[in-house]
Amino acid sequence: MMRCVLMMSALLVASACSGERGGRETSAEPSGAGASTAITSKPTIDPAAMLRHIEVLASDEFEGRGPGTKGEELTVAYLERELRSIGLEPGNTDGTYIQNVPLVGITATNTQPLTITSASTKQTFKWSDEVVAWTKHVADGAAITDSEMVFVGYGVTAPEFDWNDFKDIDVRGKTLVVLVNDPQIPAPDTPSRLDPKMFNGQAMTYYGRWTYKYEEAARRGAAGVLIVHETGPAGYPFSVVQGNLREKFDLVTPDKNMGRSSIEGWVALDAAKRIFKMAGQDFDALKERALTREFQPVPLGLRASLAIRNTMRTLDSRNVLARLPGSDPALADEYVIYTAHWDHLGVGAPVDGDRIYNGALDNASGVAKLLEIGRAFTTVEPKPRRSILFLLVTAEEQGLLGSQHYAVAPVYPLEKTLANINIDGVNQWGRTKDITVVGMGASDLDDYLREAATEQGRTLRPDPEPEKGFYYRSDHFNFAKQGVPALYTDTGEEYVGKPLEFSAQKRNEYTSRDYHAPSDEIKPDWDLTGAVDDAELLFLVGYRVANADRFPEWKPGNEFKAKRDEMLKRD
Ligand SMILES: [Zn+2]
Repeated sequence: MMRCVLMMSALLVASACSGERGGRETSAEPSGAGASTAITSKPTIDPAAMLRHIEVLASDEFEGRGPGTKGEELTVAYLERELRSIGLEPGNTDGTYIQNVPLVGITATNTQPLTITSASTKQTFKWSDEVVAWTKHVADGAAITDSEMVFVGYGVTAPEFDWNDFKDIDVRGKTLVVLVNDPQIPAPDTPSRLDPKMFNGQAMTYYGRWTYKYEEAARRGAAGVLIVHETGPAGYPFSVVQGNLREKFDLVTPDKNMGRSSIEGWVALDAAKRIFKMAGQDFDALKERALTREFQPVPLGLRASLAIRNTMRTLDSRNVLARLPGSDPALADEYVIYTAHWDHLGVGAPVDGDRIYNGALDNASGVAKLLEIGRAFTTVEPKPRRSILFLLVTAEEQGLLGSQHYAVAPVYPLEKTLANINIDGVNQWGRTKDITVVGMGASDLDDYLREAATEQGRTLRPDPEPEKGFYYRSDHFNFAKQGVPALYTDTGEEYVGKPLEFSAQKRNEYTSRDYHAPSDEIKPDWDLTGAVDDAELLFLVGYRVANADRFPEWKPGNEFKAKRDEMLKRD
C-alpha cells in the first residue's frame, strides 16, 4: 500500500497500483493488433515492480555490483531468487541458474620501450606519452624483437564491400601499422558527403572499431599491431587510450589468448608521423592512398622491438540465466535471448564523499526491465512456441566480457538462437512518441520493432550519432559478431507533452553528472511510464520472433551477414 502512494507521488502513474494502464495505449491500438499477435491474454509490465528491483540492486548494500565482490554475491542471489519466483526455470543445462565466467585481470608494465630501427637510424618512443601497448596473452609477458613493420592502411578485409587492405602480403611475425576508423570514402556525386554504399557512409561499421583491427591482425598471424591515434576519426582523445594502461580484465580462454598478436597498442599521431618519416614516407600521402580498393600494403623498411611484463590475478564471476521452455516440442530447442548486464563499477574513487557507484540506470534499470519482461512471458497466453532465455551477464563494464563468454561458449547452440534483444538502461523520464534504434537497418528485427511500435502509435528513430559506433559497445554486439541478429534500442527523443529540447537536456544532464559516477542513483523525478512502453515493445518483438515461421536475418550488406549465412548452412 505504501508503495502505491509512493508510486503515485514519485512517478505520477495513477494507474500503477491497479496494474492497468490507461490513456493512449487503449485508444491507439489498431483493432487488428490482437489478431496479428494472436495473444489472448496480454500481460502487463508493472512500473512499481521495476522500481522495486532497481531500489534493491542499486542500494548501497549491493556496493555497486562489482564482479568478484560482495556486491556480486548479493546480486546473483537476488536474481536467482527473483527468476525462480517469477516461475522461470534454471537456464543452464546443469540445472542451475549460473554460468561461470572465469576472468583474469592483467596489468602491463613496459620493460623495453618501443624502439624502431632503420638501416641508418634508431629511435625510442615514450611509454604512455607516445605509445600505449599491452598483450592479451595470459602469460608473464610478451615481446616483439626486430619485427618487420608494414603499413596496411585501415587493416580491413570486408568482402561485402569488395575491400581487402592486405592483398596477398604475408604478415606473419610482422608488426602492422594501422589507421583507426573505417575508410572514409567521399560519395562519387557529392564529394562533401561520405559514400553511403561504402562502409555505411557516415555511420561507423565494425571495421572501424579498434578491437576489429587487432582481431583481423591476429587472424593473419601478425606479431604486433600499432594503431595510429587521431582524435577525430577515433572519436576520443589519446588520454582515453592511455586508460588501457590500468588493469584490464579479460576472459580466460582455452588457448590463453595465445592466438592473439604478442603486442597490441596505439601510437600517438606525432610519434606515428616520425615513424613514417624514418621510413621516408609521408603520413598524409599514405593515408590518402589507403582510401582506395587498389591500396597495396607498404613495407616500411623498419624493425620494431618492445617488451611487456604482466602482473595477473584471476577472478571468478557469473552470468545468471533462466529459461521459459517453448510450447512447441519441435521448436523448443530454438531460442530468443534477452540480455542485460547486472554488473556496474563497484566501490571506487569518492566523488562528493560517495564511493559507491550504484549504477541505478546503468544497469539496475535494464535488469529490472528484463525481469518484468520475463514475468510477462510467464503469464502470456498462448505461450511462445520457441524457448526464451533470460541472460543477465557480468563484466560488461570491463569490456562486454560476460556476454562474450556466453557468445563463444553458448549453453544453447547459436545456430538455433534466432535473436538477441539487449537492454542497457531504460527511459526514466516519461513516455515518448518514438524509440531510438541503435544501428537501425541492421536486421529484420527492426521490422518486428516497427510493427509493434506502430501498434503503440509510436515511430522508430535512427541513432542520432551513428559515427560513434554505439552498436558495437554493448552486450548484444557479442552476439552480432558471432552472427546472431541483435537488437539494441535507446530512449526516444520526443517526450509526450514536453518541448523537443527536453530529451537532449535530460540526456546531457545524465551524461555530465551521473554517467559512471556515484550519483547514478534513483532520482525523485524518475517516471518509468516510458520504460513500460519500451518493455512492452521488446516483449512483443521477442514473442513474435519466437512464434515466427522463419528466422530473422541480417539485411543485405551488413557486416555480420556472411557469418550467419555460413553458420546456418552448416546444419
Ligand atoms: Zn551499461
